[in-house]
Amino acid sequence: MVEIRGVRKAFGHNTVLKDVSLQIPTGSVTCLIGPSGSGKTTLLRCVNRLETVDAGIILVDGELVGATRHRGRLLEAKESAIAKTRRHTGMVFQRFNLFPHRTVLENVIEGPTQVLGRPRADVVNEAMVLLERVGLADKAVSYPQELSGGQQQRIAIARALAMKPKLMLFDEPTSALDPELVGEVLAVMRDLADEGMTMMVVTHELGFAREVSDQVVFMADGVVVESGAPDEVLARPQHERTQAFLSRIL
Ligand code: ATP
Repeated sequence: MVEIRGVRKAFGHNTVLKDVSLQIPTGSVTCLIGPSGSGKTTLLRCVNRLETVDAGIILVDGELVGATRHRGRLLEAKESAIAKTRRHTGMVFQRFNLFPHRTVLENVIEGPTQVLGRPRADVVNEAMVLLERVGLADKAVSYPQELSGGQQQRIAIARALAMKPKLMLFDEPTSALDPELVGEVLAVMRDLADEGMTMMVVTHELGFAREVSDQVVFMADGVVVESGAPDEVLARPQHERTQAFLSRIL
């Protein structure tokens, strides 16, 4: 469902993605791991078209995302394809980015009512089901600052799900949380994975990567050094750089 082929991306003279290729099949979970600055976040942002690529192509559900030069030809994504990809892609960030002056429920219904123009009554019903699912239905009329970081991140996930995404991108969703709050967010993500959501997750949570992902991708200096099933990459890494990284964080 997500196909990344030969993607290159530079910020000025700093080339942060160098010929990255990856495939994320529908219904699978891919965890991106690697040292700080290796390009994981940038890759995620290219998939959601928050960044454009300089070369290579990204296809989401067979639709081209972004404009690029490929084999000498300029390929340009249709605006409709970009809008569609964005609409079907949920993103959860390290910082929860909730609207502080709106209640939890208002945060969750914002996208479907404002962006999709759906009737408020339908959306409110769906939002309550989502809040139930992340275990926070009793917080519907609370404000974000009244909640813990873990609860806010679960609301951020519910808000992304309210748009009925086909693909969920998570950028270090637990790294801003106190350690005791990490588990509750990972549990929600695990449920989503069990329900068959296609997910790309940038994370340092190797336990989650081991247990939940179908594919682990180790990136360093803008390249995919090694990728494969978690018990290959995490338990029997082939590449020296992967071994060094894992030995540092385990
Ligand atoms: P981390 O784990 O620290 O988040 P990462 O692997 O996700 O790291 P990126 O955030 O993708 O890495 O950053 C890769 C490189 O790109 C870094 O050198 C970063 O400074 C640079 N970079 C990212 N975004 C921009 C930007 N908008 N403008 C300039 N440089 C950027």
